[in-house]
Amino acid sequence: MRHIAIVGSGPAGYYTAEAAQKQWGDDVRVDVIDMLPVPYGLIRTGVAPDHQSIKAVSQRYEKTALTENVRFVGNVMIGRDISAKELKALYDAVVFATGAPNDRALGLPGEDLRNVFGSAAFVGWYNGHPQFADLDPDLSGRNAVVIGMGNVALDVARILSKTDSEFEGSDIVAHALDLLRNSRISTITIVGRRGPHQIMMTPKELSELMNLARASPRVDPADLPEPEEDAFLEPGVRKSVCLLRSFAAIPESERADKTIEIDFDMFASPRRFIGEGKVSALEIERTRVESGRAVGTGEAYTIPADLVVSCIGYRSSPIPDVPFDERAGRFANDGGRIESGLYCVGWARRGPTGTIGTNRPDGFSVVEKIAEDFDTGAIANVPREGRVGLDKLINERGIEVVTFRDWKKIEEAEEQAAREGAPREKFVDVEAMIRARQ
Ligand SMILES: Cc1cc2nc3c(=O)[nH]c(=O)nc-3n(C[C@H](O)[C@H](O)[C@H](O)COP(=O)(O)OP(=O)(O)OC[C@H]3O[C@@H](n4cnc5c(N)ncnc54)[C@H](O)[C@@H]3O)c2cc1C
Repeated sequence: MRHIAIVGSGPAGYYTAEAAQKQWGDDVRVDVIDMLPVPYGLIRTGVAPDHQSIKAVSQRYEKTALTENVRFVGNVMIGRDISAKELKALYDAVVFATGAPNDRALGLPGEDLRNVFGSAAFVGWYNGHPQFADLDPDLSGRNAVVIGMGNVALDVARILSKTDSEFEGSDIVAHALDLLRNSRISTITIVGRRGPHQIMMTPKELSELMNLARASPRVDPADLPEPEEDAFLEPGVRKSVCLLRSFAAIPESERADKTIEIDFDMFASPRRFIGEGKVSALEIERTRVESGRAVGTGEAYTIPADLVVSCIGYRSSPIPDVPFDERAGRFANDGGRIESGLYCVGWARRGPTGTIGTNRPDGFSVVEKIAEDFDTGAIANVPREGRVGLDKLINERGIEVVTFRDWKKIEEAEEQAAREGAPREKFVDVEAMIRARQ
């Protein structure tokens, strides 16, 4: 019997569990351990609440979770409740699928002013992540600034501009909906260091800005390269640039009935946040792009900023006794192998890139590495206690574990509490989740 512990129940964790089942069938026992009482990682707490069809991928993970040899062990944090060393002694292989939950800092003066947030915190707030439920951003100012040119920046800008009725069918949490309802934001500036040809936003997500009830996107035509130059772009980027061109061409008459403007400020590198206690402005240096890189021109200007959300990437959290690459912000690994018996997968392995689906081949390839290490004897062929040993530690330490069956009760309670038309009203604190399973 092979005993495998997977730390993290997001896409990477469940794809790895699925791969382990395919590889060893009945000869494997997999424990998927998560610090939260609820599974699925960023599918629940990252993917935008108005993108329910994407969140439906969790049904696939549920299939894996419900099989006999896979178990969900919720509300157990590795590195706090149980150490990595203890797990390693209990299981043949430990796979870290812990994602990249920490915001990468801009490292700019004034970053600690009030109402400046990273996207992990801000997205976690509107998605009901217990760690960020109390964020309480101040949306009473008129000017929001979103830093970054990727899809997370788009998610944030879109959520800030939607009306109540546009959230119908979403699972945005009540505390966020209440604040957004009273928001006074009228300009959302998306700031990016490079230009249209370096855009990371994908066409489907960009095109959503065209259909917002009260907001319209604006691109300065002067920022757009000559149309002939688009021919050299990769097709996805070309489509995105095409959309930016259509934003630039929206006639003023069409904007007249919109109360929110989503303004793209490209070739713009943030320099410092300005404000007393709370942020009020952002100083920016104009850039130009040379060989794909943003280079400062020395020309500076200031834009008003009552709220700032920085969407510039994430770092993984180190775990004691697990080698970590500080510079890259993820576990030190070679193709998913940290050392024999210790592996990583998903964002914890490769950093915050790719789509949900990218984590699937990752999961399968790490299971191949584990199989290789079994074959070569790099993983010692000694009997392991596996889940029996984990349960002993959990009982000794009085940890309140949430099982998959418990999660289904929590899920049912969330569905029952849903406002009309919404799929669920999420619990936003751990205690409430734990109470709901009883
Ligand atoms: C805001 C946002 C929006 C996104 N939208 C999309 C989208 O629309 N479409 C798309 O394809 N992709 C999207 N993505 C990307 C997608 O969410 C990721 O590719 C995917 O979630 C990464 O999976 P993962 O399993 O590596 O990490 P995660 O999903 O982050 O899962 C990590 C899990 O590990 C747990 N964990 C962490 N540390 C510990 C510990 N010490 N002990 C126990 N458990 C721990 C966490 O609680 C979490 O459940 C989005 C990402 C973000 C941030």
